Amino acid sequence: MDFTIPEETQEIIKGLKQFIEKVVLPLEKENHELLYNERNYYTEDGRHHPKVEELRKIVRMESAKAGYYTMFGAEELGGEQLGPMTALLVQEAINISYPFNKLVDPIVIPSPFTNGLSPILTGLKEELKERYLDGIRSGEKTLCFGLTEPDAGSDVWSIKTNAVKEGNEWVINGSKQWITNAAHADYCMLFAVTNPELKAQRKGGITCFFVETSTEGFSVDSVIPVMGELGGEACIISIDNLRIPDENVIGEVDKGFSIAINGINTGRLGMSGKCIGSAQWALKKAVEYAEIRKTFGKPIKEHQMIQAMLAESAMDIYAARNMALNCAWKIESSKKQPRKEISMVKAFCTEMMGRVYDRAMQIHGGVGISNELGLEQGYRLARIVRIPDGTSEIHRRTIAKSLLSGDLTF
Ligand SMILES: Cc1cc2nc3c(=O)[nH]c(=O)nc-3n(C[C@H](O)[C@H](O)[C@H](O)COP(=O)(O)OP(=O)(O)OC[C@H]3O[C@@H](n4cnc5c(N)ncnc54)[C@H](O)[C@@H]3O)c2cc1C
Repeated sequence: MDFTIPEETQEIIKGLKQFIEKVVLPLEKENHELLYNERNYYTEDGRHHPKVEELRKIVRMESAKAGYYTMFGAEELGGEQLGPMTALLVQEAINISYPFNKLVDPIVIPSPFTNGLSPILTGLKEELKERYLDGIRSGEKTLCFGLTEPDAGSDVWSIKTNAVKEGNEWVINGSKQWITNAAHADYCMLFAVTNPELKAQRKGGITCFFVETSTEGFSVDSVIPVMGELGGEACIISIDNLRIPDENVIGEVDKGFSIAINGINTGRLGMSGKCIGSAQWALKKAVEYAEIRKTFGKPIKEHQMIQAMLAESAMDIYAARNMALNCAWKIESSKKQPRKEISMVKAFCTEMMGRVYDRAMQIHGGVGISNELGLEQGYRLARIVRIPDGTSEIHRRTIAKSLLSGDLTF
């Protein structure tokens, strides 16, 4: 086996870092007080300040011009369709160097649910592709992914939002919760029940619709503030007699759930790459601090309990990185989604990030919990990522189901 990072990928990472240094970081510097002071970053209702949205748009559009924004999108949507291995290595590299830069992630490279060339868009009718894709590809317009509801999270088959056909239109009613970017998105990929009998048997009956968020009947009620923040990106949506033309069905009627899974799996591997990169950043900080901080007359790096924490984090990162690379290789070589492995990678990498940040904070003592180093920010993020894209428990359920149905391969 050859674990060398391909030259092409190394070139992409090098170019991407140059782009971030030349285009994104100067913008951040100019707008530091807006971006790094929560009271300026969010408005009273928890949404991004309009100027923050303006900056995010500038970065998206510059990234699209430079070719980074669309590099993982499907070719049929006008993307470069670079594979999961490249995606993983690129996400790792960005998060080692720029783990919490406000305009870097997920702006330069979009999250596949929210922005850019989501794999779900491959199911759009040709006419709609012509109408909408240019704006999405250029970064001018953004999306959101509307599946979760107040009474349906892990158990997505419990969604109640329903769509009824009237002539050439669908009339949709219901509500959605935890929808990232909904407050700012131009379009929503909205999931609704179209055949309750099929849904009750968990065999289908859910359809995905492409919705312009400015359409009457679609409204964002509020933004949910998340851990330690004055605002957030996840929103609560009301859908009240929303009328959507039949041509806006994505893929086939009643088969929306398989479309959702397609997008979710791509996101899970990308999220793992971010955790692996960010954990390396935290470990480096811990090593550097252990060299300079002295207690009992010697640097703390000489205390064996500190050494053990560093070593445990290294073992965690090495295991996570190699399992993620192996999973990406499996996807690329088999061309099918290894569900058990994707679940193992998502659960392990997100949990690993929490352990590494926890140890890095402990090694820093009191400074570790100050909000000046970025460690507490990473710790909060690590706590959050164990919930979206499938909770740790749901991934364990998927893994166990595969094992118990006879898949004991590794
Ligand atoms: C920051 C953030 C962003 C999000 N963005 C989006 C988005 O853009 N679009 C979208 O559609 N959704 C989004 N979500 C929703 C996310 O997918 C759900 O929160 C997630 O699926 C869990 O659902 P829930 O919160 O309703 O928890 P529940 O499903 O109610 O779970 C509660 C607890 O029970 C456990 N549990 C549930 N079932 C089982 C079981 N069978 N066995 C063992 N334990 C179980 C869970 O693991 C959890 O610990 C986002 C969530 C967050 C936090």
